[in-house]
Amino acid sequence: MTSTLPALPTSYAELLAAVSAPADDSGTTSRPVHDPATGTLIGHVPIQGVDELEADITTARAAQKVWARRPESERTELLLAAADALEAVAEPLAELLSREQGKPLNGPNARFEVGGCSAWTRVSATTPLETEELVNDGQVYATMSWKPIGVVGAIGPWNWPMLISIWQIAPSLRMGNTVVLKPSANTTLSVLAMCHVMNQVLPEGLLTVIAGDRQVGRLMPTHPGIDKIMFTGSTETGKKIAESASGTLKRLTLELGGNDAGIVLPDLFDNASTEGEEDAITEGIFWGAFINTGQTCAALKRLYVPDVIYDRVCASLTRVAAKMPMGVGVEEQNLLGPLQNQNQFDIVDRLVKAAVDSGARVLCGADPDYDAPGYFYPATLIADIDGDNPLVVEEQFGPALPIIRYSTLEEALREANRLDVGLGSSVWSADKAKAREIAQRVEAGTVWINAHGAIDPRVPFGGIKSSGYGLEFGAEGLKHVALPHVING
Ligand code: NAD
Repeated sequence: MTSTLPALPTSYAELLAAVSAPADDSGTTSRPVHDPATGTLIGHVPIQGVDELEADITTARAAQKVWARRPESERTELLLAAADALEAVAEPLAELLSREQGKPLNGPNARFEVGGCSAWTRVSATTPLETEELVNDGQVYATMSWKPIGVVGAIGPWNWPMLISIWQIAPSLRMGNTVVLKPSANTTLSVLAMCHVMNQVLPEGLLTVIAGDRQVGRLMPTHPGIDKIMFTGSTETGKKIAESASGTLKRLTLELGGNDAGIVLPDLFDNASTEGEEDAITEGIFWGAFINTGQTCAALKRLYVPDVIYDRVCASLTRVAAKMPMGVGVEEQNLLGPLQNQNQFDIVDRLVKAAVDSGARVLCGADPDYDAPGYFYPATLIADIDGDNPLVVEEQFGPALPIIRYSTLEEALREANRLDVGLGSSVWSADKAKAREIAQRVEAGTVWINAHGAIDPRVPFGGIKSSGYGLEFGAEGLKHVALPHVING
């Protein structure tokens, strides 16, 4: 850690006090935020609108001119200092994230997310992006380098609110842009807090959070003062943004919804001789699907398993699911939490009911306690389900995994590829080389082998089909928040 960090919040209470707005019973200037696990009041978020957006864009445009002129080494240093600041406040940030989003502190959840924020910031700050020599044949000398775009408008979802914001902020700043960010109304406090910490280190005006609603979101893609939109959210909203951005021909990165398939190959358990060894393998599948209690864009959302090991995979996954404690996020033992909001609870509930009504077999879960506090939906595994069932073809975005039986690999590939989405996917096998070969035929932006959702700040990530376009992470991610600049001659 650098020794130049300013005074930063040292506790959850201090962090919350720094970003929570005064209560306003009339609901004009602020609105209350409740913990999705308990219903407890956490704090208040300011209500900002179009006037604040205009002011933020004006500030961001002025700051960008200065920021873009600073040497790249200075931009890198400042981002590294911001990463240090995030690390220094990691525990209070994780607690706030857990209380507002619902995700547990432990497992691949709140602490993991906050840790990812500093890690991604560091990698974005230091990933080399050299001028490319395109042609140098004695007659033609052409190079391509990357210039700032201007002001990036970032719009984010509520499932990984801090980390997804960092994916938008860190590369944008690194490339000499400034950022105006609109978080989801469901997780505004978390994003305000994270940016508050970064802004203790970053020069003024580089990073502004607008605590606006969808109305503000709708304005951003049309606004001439914003040069690029980075959007992460649903496909439905992504389409609207693409439409409204057309008037100003804004550049877009659209990271949209997914319905990731996982294909298990018949040899999955070839190196496993005990139930324990089988469970060690399926635990990877479990977390691929249930990371963040299933509320993850690139989570495994439909699992294709061959007849020959179908029952063994189902039994193993059921044993693994039974071991995973679900409960209030800030209680250390929990690894699964509530859904973040009522709407998402209703989606999961509707889809599981449709599966059960169709005659599919419940291996575990599917029995929420509707009277209990919090939006808890139990970890649910559904077997012997038809490939056309809504739980298979729609995005559940929650803790319910359909396990679809297949006979031939051709059938599995056809089913995996048939939907109009293509974010992530996975192939699971005892033979990695064979799995990589099959991965060539899976239609998705990323195919993981024996893992799912294993994102890495050095490896580009993005969707195809209705899962969007543009790449994030690595040098490719930096190029997507920059303008190509060719010199020929
Ligand atoms: P959402 O599309 O409802 O909202 C996302 C953001 O867009 C919010 O900040 C919202 O206020 C804003 N918004 C809504 N309407 C808008 C409009 N017309 N113009 C501009 N902004 C608008 O998505 P959500 O419910 O917050 O997130 C869940 C969805 O996001 C899922 O489908 C999930 O798969 C997807 N997601 C994708 C990724 C990815 O990287 N591909 C990551 C996380 C979530």
